[in-house]
Amino acid sequence: MSIKEIDKEYIAGTYKRFDVEIVSGKGSKVYDENGREYIDLTSGIGVTSFGIADNEWKAAIVDQINRVQHMSNLYYTEPCALLAKALCEKTGLKKVFFSNSGAEANECAIKAARKYACDKYGEDAYTIVTLENSFHGRTVTTLAATGQEHYHELFKPLTAGFEHIRAGDMNALKTICEKKRIAAVMIECIQGEGGVIALDKDFVISLYEYCCENDILLIVDEVQTGNGRTGKLYAYMNYGITPDIVTTAKGLAGGLPIGAALFGEKTQNVFGFGDHGSTFGGNPVSCAAALSIIKRIDEKLLNEVNEKSKYIFSAFDGAEGVESVSGMGLMIGIKTVKPAAEVLGKCIENGVLCLTAKDKLRLLPALNIDFEDLKKAVEIIKNVCKE
Ligand SMILES: *Cc1c(COP(=O)(O)O)cnc(C)c1O
Repeated sequence: MSIKEIDKEYIAGTYKRFDVEIVSGKGSKVYDENGREYIDLTSGIGVTSFGIADNEWKAAIVDQINRVQHMSNLYYTEPCALLAKALCEKTGLKKVFFSNSGAEANECAIKAARKYACDKYGEDAYTIVTLENSFHGRTVTTLAATGQEHYHELFKPLTAGFEHIRAGDMNALKTICEKKRIAAVMIECIQGEGGVIALDKDFVISLYEYCCENDILLIVDEVQTGNGRTGKLYAYMNYGITPDIVTTAKGLAGGLPIGAALFGEKTQNVFGFGDHGSTFGGNPVSCAAALSIIKRIDEKLLNEVNEKSKYIFSAFDGAEGVESVSGMGLMIGIKTVKPAAEVLGKCIENGVLCLTAKDKLRLLPALNIDFEDLKKAVEIIKNVCKE
């Protein structure tokens, strides 16, 4: 049996895979089972921040594996402490809890927000408001947070205590707050799975001010937008706000599993001994990988991200077969005239890997993609769009 046949036989049928098996790669080039080369504009849904098998990233991991691959969280290890320090120094936030995925980082934020509100305002103050068209994960609670009904349908009852408002609708939030005390508002600054839609700056600032005035926690889900993806270290930095809790995951460790919830001034001491935990959270190998990634996301790299972003926007803006371009940094949505799924299929046939989000083609290339590879891939996509 081929790998594709074995996979179809034994893997639970949750993923509709493309007909390509990736066996190796280097940087932003990957190779399939027949040795065919593709330019990768997905980085595994924004995970492999510095591409495939990056040398510095590998060295950090190998070095840590040779020391210690895992210890329980009841003992100290260096990578976990140093990564938390680096994240706090770069954001001004105060404390970190490490987990293994985006959904878990959000679960942690939700627990922290509930505890903060319960301690201060009593047991009824648990409601968390999120946005319509958001995506916060696949666990039963983060599904409840996700403001897209089609993810909910088959899995009810979901965790209680979530309400959804339309992005931009401050009045809807105020109406909820007139009826009850809420714990938090949770947003993605750029809705990724929802179609690469950046929130309006005035709305985010109004939301931030309202939350500050009313002691409502603002949680920013940076699982996809974080770690340099949007041209700043975190996307909230494009909006001039200071969240109370930031969650991140995908690109943080460059391709190893990790999740992190970062706590600000108000929330830093919400959790006490035993309030939360994770066996694998803060794993030394994942943290060593993440530390190597975070150290490299400096001004120079972010400038390159912004230059490449400008190039992509100008290449697709007004191009034949393209209706519009959205997003920020290297998180880009392209509304194509032809159905996005059809464009994606043709791109793969022509040697470029991309993604979709709702009705858009979605690009999430590695932050350090070579300009030459990027240009080549963009030309291929443009040709597919106008065919
Ligand atoms: C991917 C994603 C998640 C879920 O992350 P997992 O690691 O798959 O659990 C949560 N929020 C956002 C914004 C995401 O893009």
